[in-house]
Amino acid sequence: MNEKLNPNFKELNISKPTLKALKKMGLSQMTDIQTAVLPKALSGDDIVATAKTGSGKTLAFLIPVVEVVVRNLNDQIPVTLCIIISPTRELAIQTYTVLKDIISFYNNISSTLIIGGESRKKQSEHLFNGVHIVVATPGRLFDHMRTKEFDYKNVSCLVLDEADKIYQYGFEEDLKQIITRLPKDRQTMLFSATKSETTEALIESAMKEDVHIINTNEDNDKATVDGLKQGYVVCETEYRLHWLHKMLKKSQKQKVMVFFSSCKSVVFHHEFLTRYCNLDINIIG
Ligand code: ADP
Ligand code: MG
Repeated sequence: MNEKLNPNFKELNISKPTLKALKKMGLSQMTDIQTAVLPKALSGDDIVATAKTGSGKTLAFLIPVVEVVVRNLNDQIPVTLCIIISPTRELAIQTYTVLKDIISFYNNISSTLIIGGESRKKQSEHLFNGVHIVVATPGRLFDHMRTKEFDYKNVSCLVLDEADKIYQYGFEEDLKQIITRLPKDRQTMLFSATKSETTEALIESAMKEDVHIINTNEDNDKATVDGLKQGYVVCETEYRLHWLHKMLKKSQKQKVMVFFSSCKSVVFHHEFLTRYCNLDINIIG
């Protein structure tokens, strides 16, 4: 990731509590995409950034988002200043978790997660009471934008994470509606692992003309980092668990990520593999 010597986060013009949080997270040197994006994003410019999965895009937008809030903090009731849109609940939760870490040394920045499958009423209350940063999936966010409870007229920064997937998952119309309703004089940052025609369309409709296009994928077309090996086995359904167990046992010295299609399936496999196979496994999502 850092063959060249990238600068340290300390060299950026960012607030002390953010630097403290980065230190606590064990992060000091920026990744390539962070080095390319952060100075421009921190000056308030529109950004379109394409970089492989695992290259550190989350902090490339969370750090500027937090600075937007810091610059606008006052003693009044919080207003929503930044919205981060993710294509899935799982990605939204992941982003929200990193956000919580990065704002952990501030006691006056508020944030909330607005995703499907959770209580709409509780979410409405949070939005009505005022919250600085909203991390959301498009469908549920648009639901709330149609109500009076959510005042979004002060939003000055919009992030579209995994923008190509937002379209793939059928949120095109929701996203269009969201974008037309938000204030025009906002900063917009769009992130994705791959370039596609849909992101081109989004750039046209959502971004300012002097947008910075940043792409750290130029060396090849793969959407994942070089250190990441991906594998698969084609087998009968009844052998799936057997093969998964075998592959995990074989790779015990490596960090392995396994994706499942539903939360229930994650919970089942987690329980089975930790309880009966003695494997050390964490759940995300
Ligand atoms: P992406 O969104 O590009 O797929 P993430 O933002 O999820 O990537 O980051 C991937 C991993 O890299 C995470 O585990 C994150 O903690 C780690 N990471 C991010 N920035 C840095 C950094 N500057 N130095 C070391 N690790 C980092
Ligand atoms: Mg990401």
